[in-house]
Amino acid sequence: DELVVGLTGGIGSGKTAVSNRLKELGATIIDTDEIAHSLTQTGGLAIANIRRAFGDQAVLPDGSMNRDHMRALVFKNPEQRVALERILHPKIREEVQRQLAQGALQYFVVVVPLLFEKGGWGELMDDIVVVDCPVDQQVERVIQRNGWPETQVRAVINNQASREVRTKGADHVIENTGDLPELIQKVDVLHEKLIKKAKK
Ligand code: ATP
Repeated sequence: DELVVGLTGGIGSGKTAVSNRLKELGATIIDTDEIAHSLTQTGGLAIANIRRAFGDQAVLPDGSMNRDHMRALVFKNPEQRVALERILHPKIREEVQRQLAQGALQYFVVVVPLLFEKGGWGELMDDIVVVDCPVDQQVERVIQRNGWPETQVRAVINNQASREVRTKGADHVIENTGDLPELIQKVDVLHEKLIKKAKK
């Protein structure tokens, strides 16, 4: 069977940078954030359930999920967060399975930001890659990229698994502490390992 690699890491750790490079090298990427987004877009498969569970104000006139409304709602109310996850999670899993069934040229990389926070992903993965860097570097990158206040970035990080939990659960750790060329080099080395494993 084809090799399935899980890719995870904290906010701003560099998951997208790593998966972009692996894609260039020929890996087949399955991105669960992208899937969640398409499920909640206009015409998305989760919209009817979301309207039923959270009411009309959860859906914009164009038929997409009202992201600002839902973000605020689940932030204040953990039960609502669980309710939204119960709608999305099985549909995300189903779409991942559908994409896995399409086959890969070399191997699959499934990007799951909250792989260690939400149960059930591990059993799908042959290997887990964690992108890791110090928290201050995550904070700096997300401020740069999103323009968020530092307190908001740190609040997200505090709600995610710790670096220790993630690196303990990893088969491969990419230390993303240098510049982008350095990261690319590390990803290229990882790719060689994964290619060898995929061919076994
Ligand atoms: P999120 O969980 O928020 O989606 P992520 O883990 O996918 O984040 P990236 O988007 O890959 O992280 O990286 C965060 C930001 O930091 C991006 O703007 C990216 O270009 C930049 N970045 C990542 N790694 C490096 C690096 N080694 N040197 C410089 N900038 C970097």
